[in-house]
Amino acid sequence: MSESIQGPRGVRDILPDESWKWAYVLDRAGEIARRFGYSEVKLPIFEHTELFSRGVGDTTDIVEKEMYTFTDKGGRSITLRPEMTAGMMRSYVEHTLGVPGGNPAKLWGAGPMFRYERPQKGRYRQFWQLDYEEVGSESPLVDVEVIMTAIELFRTLGMRNLEVVINSVGCPKCRPVYREKLVGYLKGHFDELCDTCKSRLDRNPLRVLDCKEDHEIVAGAPDIFDSLCDECAEHFKAVTDGLTRLGIKYTIDKTLVRGLDYYTKTAFEVKSGDLGAQSAVCGGGRYDNLSESIGGPHVPSVGFAAGLDRVILVMDEQGCSFGSAPALDAYVVCPDPAARLNAMELMYELRRAGLKADMDYAGRGMKAQMKTAVASGAKAACILGGDEAARGVVAVRDLTKAEQAEVPAGEVCARVAELAGRQ
Ligand code: ATP
Ligand code: MG
Repeated sequence: MSESIQGPRGVRDILPDESWKWAYVLDRAGEIARRFGYSEVKLPIFEHTELFSRGVGDTTDIVEKEMYTFTDKGGRSITLRPEMTAGMMRSYVEHTLGVPGGNPAKLWGAGPMFRYERPQKGRYRQFWQLDYEEVGSESPLVDVEVIMTAIELFRTLGMRNLEVVINSVGCPKCRPVYREKLVGYLKGHFDELCDTCKSRLDRNPLRVLDCKEDHEIVAGAPDIFDSLCDECAEHFKAVTDGLTRLGIKYTIDKTLVRGLDYYTKTAFEVKSGDLGAQSAVCGGGRYDNLSESIGGPHVPSVGFAAGLDRVILVMDEQGCSFGSAPALDAYVVCPDPAARLNAMELMYELRRAGLKADMDYAGRGMKAQMKTAVASGAKAACILGGDEAARGVVAVRDLTKAEQAEVPAGEVCARVAELAGRQ
């Protein structure tokens, strides 16, 4: 016999023991979005490759080595989305989602992303992001609102020990000045750089600051704040003043550069100490030039994406609550094969009354069925054999108190609802 087929490397099945936690977090994410005024956009999972090569930037790790790209049957180059920001901007421009009067369009979405990376804890080839974007505003207060959204999302989920890290990556006016200074400095240390950074030097030198290996060289690198233009410096001050005023703690990290070229001014991450090397639970920032790079008008914007897989890992590790685990309200126990359809009728009635009910189909004995009832977490077992059916009653057992009483058939739903605390 041939071996059974397994899932591809780096992708996971989110199984029933975990999927209910995902549903909980996605619910909270939607709730935050509504409370903060974001509307949902359900974006496609694949786009034209060009959207990402132009919108993410072809010197980035994502475009250089992480994209799932293929040619479809019509000969088009298609890519499974590695992130959502470029798609959100494409949608904004394509459907003119702008808000008249200069306020940002607040858009959010959630779904799977695809990156060909080395799989490890908190790093997968298919992973989910929760994405919140404010499109069409230059105001630094909008940067503050975006960071506020991230913080409130994580606070609502009960996550602790998180650190907001913030930096400015400048703009096309001042970044080239910094870039030149940085390249000059790095060239002086060329032999000491790791191989990846040697090759980054010409194409995307800012990425060297993000290198996990070249710490010492990075520590001595020129300070980007010495190169920021007045506009970028003022913007940064307004953002940090806003955060301070709102009581949102942050740390400035001048080596924080986003891997994506379209970022301008604010860059930020929220990090968790409970994730090892994959410490970022969210990454974001301002991307004033994304729209133009994909052929649209000037649309200054800011947003972030949180990694749902990592959020759930941290929540598990910190013992955060995911609400109550899924449990039945009633398990219908039927030890008498002749009464099986009576049991099914009762189960259907319970379900139509909005109660979570299930029953045995394996024809097992009373004891085995009662065991399943208890294991299911049901508050009530509804015992219905031929004798009960003939008398028009059901024995309803309160599984919490282990007390049992016969109830007229017409009152079972009400009694179960009472035991399940659903009245
Ligand atoms: P990292 O430095 O960890 O690779 P990144 O800078 O590539 O992160 P972003 O592009 O900013 O990440 O994506 C936003 C968030 O999405 C990250 O902070 C992280 O929580 C999550 N994320 C990114 N890549 C993965 C992945 N391969 N698996 C799981 N989550 C991921
Ligand atoms: Mg990455």
